Amino acid sequence: MVPRLVRSSVPSKGSPTQPNSGESGFLARFSASDEQREWFSPSPAGYERGRTKFVVVIGTVMSGLGKGIFSSSLAKLLQDKGLAVAPIKMEGYLNIDSGTLNPFRHGEVFVLADGLETDMDLGTYERILDQDLSRRNFITAGQIYGEILDRERRGDYLGRDVQMIPHVTGSVKLRLRELAMTGGPNGTPADVVFVEVGGTAGDYENGFYIEALRELAFEEGSESTCFVALTYILEPATLGEQKSKAAQLGIKRLMESGVQPHVIACRATNPVGEKVMQKIGMFSNVPMKRIFSMHDRESIYVIPDDMRANGLDREILSILNLHDRVKVTHEDKARRTWNDFSSKLSTPRARRVTLGIMGKYASLRDAYASIDKAVEHCGVHLNATIDLKWLDTSSLDTTGKVAATLKDVDGIIVPGGFGQRGVEGKLRCVEHARTTKLPFLGICLGFQMAVIEYARHVLGLTDANSTEFDPSTSHAVISELPDQKKLEGIVGGTMRLGGQDVLLESESFAARLYGSTTVRERFRHRYEVEPSFIEALQAAGLHFSGRHPHHPIMQVLELCASDHPCFLAAQFHPELTSRPLRPQPLFMGLAAAAIVRKYPDAVRDTTVARWLNSPAAVAAH
Ligand code: GLN
Repeated sequence: MVPRLVRSSVPSKGSPTQPNSGESGFLARFSASDEQREWFSPSPAGYERGRTKFVVVIGTVMSGLGKGIFSSSLAKLLQDKGLAVAPIKMEGYLNIDSGTLNPFRHGEVFVLADGLETDMDLGTYERILDQDLSRRNFITAGQIYGEILDRERRGDYLGRDVQMIPHVTGSVKLRLRELAMTGGPNGTPADVVFVEVGGTAGDYENGFYIEALRELAFEEGSESTCFVALTYILEPATLGEQKSKAAQLGIKRLMESGVQPHVIACRATNPVGEKVMQKIGMFSNVPMKRIFSMHDRESIYVIPDDMRANGLDREILSILNLHDRVKVTHEDKARRTWNDFSSKLSTPRARRVTLGIMGKYASLRDAYASIDKAVEHCGVHLNATIDLKWLDTSSLDTTGKVAATLKDVDGIIVPGGFGQRGVEGKLRCVEHARTTKLPFLGICLGFQMAVIEYARHVLGLTDANSTEFDPSTSHAVISELPDQKKLEGIVGGTMRLGGQDVLLESESFAARLYGSTTVRERFRHRYEVEPSFIEALQAAGLHFSGRHPHHPIMQVLELCASDHPCFLAAQFHPELTSRPLRPQPLFMGLAAAAIVRKYPDAVRDTTVARWLNSPAAVAAH
């Protein structure tokens, strides 16, 4: 959905270009006299220039350098010091959000609490900062142009020609300043906004972002903006040495846009040598103390500490004159907690289990990035190495093949998905998990698969299906949400999206895992359990232990029979809320059950037992 700037009156249809008086809505956000000037740079009411600082990360040479990881780690360093940080990702594409993007090409669609479908980098920010983000933290060129064209039709530009500069750049600056005013935790002002520009310097589609940021830095004044060029150092195997030319040319390209970087971060396979850094510094006017090697590390979680050890945080604080806002005690505590997690992560662990991810995009890890991370978090907290086996269900057309494929796994996840491909294979995997007591976690489509499987094989409704896959089935146990039916033919932005409350039954496995009966999780679906089948499914032993507080929407299911170690599924996406220091409870349930399946004596381990579906084990804990 386009975030719209509302105004109270709409010009009459016959006069679309008629200027409005400008006393409300969009124009109220900046002074009316701005309109008469050549220059046009709206600020939200009450905005104080220079109060919030901006760190801008721009890639050069090539994309895929881990700008999101770099920028979120840097933001974390400052957050640890007690500063309020607000990240923002700027995408150059014309889509309004990431909802219609194919995960095979772009990685997973990450859904925010307010329902915006975004790029997977937003997941990285939320996880590393342990901070919920919203639509204010994600801009696409499509949003900006969409807003501007809407305003133009409403006559908001008072007869002026609408241009890339100043109007498009002005809109970008307005979004950044709005974020500065409210982007801190709980809507407080941010001390520092971290801007990640998608793509690389020199791309057509992000040029207006870079220009807007150049203008912003000029307008906000000295010590307000720190530009970081993230570049790449080549190390061709045939030469066996690092070469700086591509980096120099990339940074030069950025400087041609009027941006002088303050800091240069060099991505590379190996630590970047002194000579290479000297050359880069000389050609880009950046002193050596502000050039950093960001070579490959064994884990992303050590990057913040690495940056700190090399003094990157100090340099940023000096460039932005922020030393006064640092809270040292806050930093010590935050650092200890984080380092405890990252050192556990790198310590060899006693137990090792494997989970199968029964997906459609099995060849691309990025399509399930948050599941990958959620499982990693559990492994650290349960002191076990959890390997993931990415399995494509499209070829699992017999139960024999399923059994052979799942022979070596200790549990399975059937993740979310859309469309018919691989669905029958997924159903066979659910059946296998249910009947052989293999730990199972179904997510969104995986939840729907569990309902269909139960209806077919336990209720005996042999053609039970979802109307997504068979619109003419006589037993549509999964069907379109009533609100979605009205939106037929529209693809983007038509799903039930974002954070919703889930009521859990107090004695259920799910409630024990969460330690609570009311939770909030994030959804992204168009179909749901058909209410008329709920009673029959429940009577047959499929327990809907999580529901919508007011509507008959089923949100969590589990098997009544407590002799299954873990048969859980959720209509929401639990992977989206897992954080390094706060692992997601349903994933913990699955991981603990998988560990005990392989190592039965792990029930005596209290950190594992806490997450088991066995009242005896929980009581012992
Ligand atoms: N295709 C299903 C639906 O739209 C499941 C969606 C999902 O797994 N995210 O309801």
